[in-house]
Amino acid sequence: IATIMGSMGAEEKPHAVCLPYPAQGHITPMLNVAKLLHARGFHVTFVNSEYNHARLLRTRGAAALSGVPGFCFATIPDGMPVIDDDDVTQDIPALCKSTTETCLEPFRRLLAEINGSASAEGHPSVTCVISDSIMGFSMDAAKELGLPYVQLWTASAVSYLAYHHYRLLIDRGIFPLKDAKQLTDGYLDTPVEDMPGLRSMRVRDFPSFIRSTDPDEFMVRYAIKETGRAASASAVIINSFADLEGQEVEAMETLLGLPKVYMLGPLPLVAAPHSTAIISGLSLWKEEAECLQWLHGKEAGSVVYVNFGSIVVMTNEQMLEFAWGLANSGRQFIWIIRRDLVRGDAAVLPPEFLAATAERGFMASWCPQQEVLNHPAVGAFLTHSGWNSALESICGGVPVISWPFFADQQTNCRYQCNEWGVGMEIDSNVQRDEVSDLITEVMEGEKGKAMRKRAEEWREKAVKAAEPDGSSHRNFDGLVRDVLLAKH
Ligand code: UDP
Repeated sequence: IATIMGSMGAEEKPHAVCLPYPAQGHITPMLNVAKLLHARGFHVTFVNSEYNHARLLRTRGAAALSGVPGFCFATIPDGMPVIDDDDVTQDIPALCKSTTETCLEPFRRLLAEINGSASAEGHPSVTCVISDSIMGFSMDAAKELGLPYVQLWTASAVSYLAYHHYRLLIDRGIFPLKDAKQLTDGYLDTPVEDMPGLRSMRVRDFPSFIRSTDPDEFMVRYAIKETGRAASASAVIINSFADLEGQEVEAMETLLGLPKVYMLGPLPLVAAPHSTAIISGLSLWKEEAECLQWLHGKEAGSVVYVNFGSIVVMTNEQMLEFAWGLANSGRQFIWIIRRDLVRGDAAVLPPEFLAATAERGFMASWCPQQEVLNHPAVGAFLTHSGWNSALESICGGVPVISWPFFADQQTNCRYQCNEWGVGMEIDSNVQRDEVSDLITEVMEGEKGKAMRKRAEEWREKAVKAAEPDGSSHRNFDGLVRDVLLAKH
């Protein structure tokens, strides 16, 4: 275990240890919570996995990770085999298994080490733990020390409910699938009624791990266990806001018996005033900011932005369908192709595609997404509907075309398309004609116009929630006062 020390603050400060799940879509929202705490006078220790920290040293440089007064980084191992290659896609189920089975002991030792060195090194002892909800093992370590223990659910409230209801899907015989044919014979379109707190769900709208014939499917059992564990936390934080998911959050508290759930989102807006105070971001890939220059001067709403996040992996055939769909749409586009986006060998785009789009396409391997989505030139977002991307598109007022890949993305997509009026879905068996038709519809059709209007309305509500006297800030005040600083 290594602690990488920033300068230390005064001894009497409260000290929050922030433990994200070690993947991009979890690190970013936890960093935003950490920034809010730091700005509120907390000493913060931000715990990276050793693997990610080494990677961040490569992408961000040592100076960026040296911490600032009252904020320091620490590391624990994630228990995974050591890989010396930044372009190997993280194996999420393996990482969930590994963190669950191996991280408690190192985390316990880290807390002991911080407390043991407190007086010698002049930092405060730990006063609370903020842990990702899917790092639930940490509850034991926090409770042993009698500390307030708060979980951060980095995804949507609707996906929390959907994961929690896996148990009901088992009771009703919906999971496990009877046989693999059910994946393709229309069974996934079956409506699933009476799921407390959820609306108009089909089998396909539940997080994808139930698409299995194995009754012991690890991710199903894991999701049930981790979402169940939150009931014993002191409180839960969620990266969402009252107008968008207030009812679902209420369902989490009243129907699932969770402790108080604090909506602090959208975190990119709520934490924006502190965006560069500690470190601008913890991006595991090196950002290519050139796409922002490319966007400058482009007509408002004229560019399609394509990005499938940090974990999606597709086949070369699927990538070609997207490529020709973009080419045939005739639109300008930015397409972020992570080096590991395509399964097997690296992405191979045909020279004909590159020639056809040379004047109107820009490709890069990673970009500052929030800034891209906030750029007025972006008119549509072709996305996998990861929750951070979903919120960031709302913050930018940009409608989406969604190709959900796995986990909670299915549920987010359903709500984006069916409830929030900001999205249209692409079939999982992606075809170029559908891609170009949907792009045309979103960019210039009537549906597109309606979606843009809804996206703008959501953006205004998000901005309101994030204002200094908005609901998310008031919730943050409540969390600090009633949970983090409360005497137990
Ligand atoms: N992201 C980014 N640049 C990229 C791709 C992704 O900054 O080129 C960020 C994006 O803004 C978001 C996160 O990575 O905050 C991805 O999280 P999300 O929940 O959308 O998807 P995941 O990667 O977890 O599937």
